[in-house]
Amino acid sequence: MPIYEYQCLECEFKFELLRPLSRSGEDADCPHCRECSPRVLSTFASFSVTEGGVAAPLGGNSCGGCASTSCGTCAV
Ligand SMILES: [Zn+2]
Repeated sequence: MPIYEYQCLECEFKFELLRPLSRSGEDADCPHCRECSPRVLSTFASFSVTEGGVAAPLGGNSCGGCASTSCGTCAV
């Protein structure tokens, strides 16, 4: 099953769900506040731009520059 990414409109929490393709268009319930959360397109770029315009890492342990978990630029 493919993984889809959702973001809550209420608290902006992002989460992923494994779902059959037939349900990919449905909204999900936010695990925090149970608000309806539309699917967002996953971009494999590990960064999202917040309202303040600052790029923030999504995954936490992946290197933003090269989208891999270990490389020269992530200094690990
Ligand atoms: Zn929420």
